[in-house]
Amino acid sequence: MSQPPVAIVGAGPVGLTLGCELLQRGVPVRLLERVDRPHPHAKAIIVWPRGLEALGRVGAADEVARLGHVIRAQNYHSGPRRLARTRFDKLRGTRYPYALSIPQEQTEQVLRKRFRALGGTIEFGVRLEDFRQHADGVELALSTPQGARGAECSWLVGCDGAHSTVRDRLGVPFTGASYPQQFLLTDGEWRTSLAHDEAHYFMTPAGVLVVVGLPGGLYRAFVSVAPDAEVADPAEVVRQAAAERCPVPFDLAGEGRTGVFRVHRKMAERWRVGRVLLAGDAAHIHSPAGGQGLNTGLEDVSALAWRLAPVVLGAAPQRCLDDWERERLHVARGVVRDTDQQTRLWMLTGWKAAVRDTLLRGAQHAGLLDRVVVPRQAQLTLTYPGAGRRSGRITEGGRLPDLPLPQGGWLHDVLGGEGDTVLLFGGGAPAPAASAGGAPAVRAVESPRLRSALRIRSGTAVRVRPDAVVTRVGRSAEDLLGAADGAGQEVT
Ligand SMILES: Cc1cc2nc3c(=O)[nH]c(=O)nc-3n(C[C@H](O)[C@H](O)[C@H](O)COP(=O)(O)OP(=O)(O)OC[C@H]3O[C@@H](n4cnc5c(N)ncnc54)[C@H](O)[C@@H]3O)c2cc1C
Repeated sequence: MSQPPVAIVGAGPVGLTLGCELLQRGVPVRLLERVDRPHPHAKAIIVWPRGLEALGRVGAADEVARLGHVIRAQNYHSGPRRLARTRFDKLRGTRYPYALSIPQEQTEQVLRKRFRALGGTIEFGVRLEDFRQHADGVELALSTPQGARGAECSWLVGCDGAHSTVRDRLGVPFTGASYPQQFLLTDGEWRTSLAHDEAHYFMTPAGVLVVVGLPGGLYRAFVSVAPDAEVADPAEVVRQAAAERCPVPFDLAGEGRTGVFRVHRKMAERWRVGRVLLAGDAAHIHSPAGGQGLNTGLEDVSALAWRLAPVVLGAAPQRCLDDWERERLHVARGVVRDTDQQTRLWMLTGWKAAVRDTLLRGAQHAGLLDRVVVPRQAQLTLTYPGAGRRSGRITEGGRLPDLPLPQGGWLHDVLGGEGDTVLLFGGGAPAPAASAGGAPAVRAVESPRLRSALRIRSGTAVRVRPDAVVTRVGRSAEDLLGAADGAGQEVT
């Protein structure tokens, strides 16, 4: 009997990425999308290095990077005065030392192409209405262009955005709060002398203006306005607010594309209920400050797919999905907190704004913004709960830095897509006991330069998951191979 598919609800960036991940692992997928064609809305633009790595795991990063526009720095202004400037080219341990600016619809387009190349079909115009779980699967109630239909799947993943039907039908609370301000944006041909390859934050008593370069010489202007402000003509509101808050001339040539938003900070209290999972905006929404939502969603499913695939194929127990839920809840809480702090900082006035300005200048002066804030924004330094032993720049529960290999390529390229990899840094080839058939793969990495960049001793062994998270650090491959692993495979 053929394997029932995993049903993914929502063909946004998160559902598409999960679809690609699962197809790559031989898991059949149904990708259901209620609208009958891709959304045209102006949404995310910033993809950070760790988000690009998640796209790289489904073969989409190169094209996204080619279409995007590199942002090299960000500037914080209080009124007309620049308080701080952070540089992304100082990011270490990544092949993407920048923030990439690319409209979300283009990222989705690349992902759709990739999903189809892997043999997937997007079922546009098919809406999940309801579902019922039983011991071996989930029964779906769908509305389709041909009328109501039933369907059976093995697992159901709600990647269906902030107003998730899956979350709603599960009855999982989505708790948090909303910001009172209104937010508006216009993407277009803004005439300005502001550097096109940088992001610019202007915090003023009237609200914030954020300006970010887009591909093709365009810019995004994003503004907050008072909760009770009259927004009869959104494009005109953005134009006026931007002109007033920007210390250099800033004016729109032509029409541009305008959107109006309310911003929330909310999290689903559970991300797994039996055979039903939630990821992306269905599980967490936050302020667009720092561009984290799409990135966090991509990483949700990057951390899910390598666990879910063996569960679906009967090769792993369902309980490993609880580890996923625990990890990602921890990360999402941190992201909601960080973006909330940044949004509140934007809105301060009077003496509080003066204190903020002094602190920002101090943090810039001490090098804290480049050293701490930017790597965190880029999501490179996020660690999972219970982060443990540390050896040089490698921490259990943290991401393995990605560094160039002496023979060409990058360290992350050495990782296996299916299961864990044990990397042996120096100290010769893997011992035969550790390398005789089966998973995880054991790979020797012979490069004093790499060891020195990672600040680790020869003989250090590191166990790494397919999503580049370090699970254990030890002194030999045997140290890191549990009894349950069987033996490893030698690839040097
Ligand atoms: C103004 C703005 C700027 C942003 N900027 C950034 C940024 O710079 N960087 C960043 O990382 N994030 C940013 N974000 C957040 C980002 O846009 C979201 O996090 C991202 O869209 C989440 O993707 P998703 O796939 O989880 O959900 P969505 O993109 O919302 O996709 C969900 C899909 O599910 C479908 N669907 C819903 N219900 C059903 C159903 N019942 N049946 C079938 N299909 C269904 C929907 O039609 C939709 O296609 C921004 C958001 C906004 C609004």
